[in-house]
Amino acid sequence: MKCPSCGNANSETARFCIRCGTPIGTVSTGNSGTRDDLASSDFVYPRNPPLSVHICWLNLFLGGAAQMIHGQVAKGLAILGAMILSNLMLPAILAIAINIASVIDAYNLGKTLKSGKAVKKWDFFLS
Ligand SMILES: [Zn+2]
Repeated sequence: MKCPSCGNANSETARFCIRCGTPIGTVSTGNSGTRDDLASSDFVYPRNPPLSVHICWLNLFLGGAAQMIHGQVAKGLAILGAMILSNLMLPAILAIAINIASVIDAYNLGKTLKSGKAVKKWDFFLS
């Protein structure tokens, strides 16, 4: 079966083009029945009418929402999870950075005082 999308020659029983994933043969007619047959497949099909590309802006409010609406539910949830995780971890990373800076500051402060120099109360010693 020749792929209508890319022209690749597939086996006669193939349901999808092995090169580009386009449904072929009995599933390429585009009626809803064949689409339902494939509901459990690994493929995401365009809705009829096609969804707007501007669904992407939803991701500004909820990470992965557009992927979920487009049908990539697991991927959308993974993006959302990654965003929640990174939001939780950012304060920790910030705290670690402040802590490291405070160690460097304290070391250099001690060194300066040990050398007999006076310092102002809010001087920082990061270099
Ligand atoms: Zn193809």
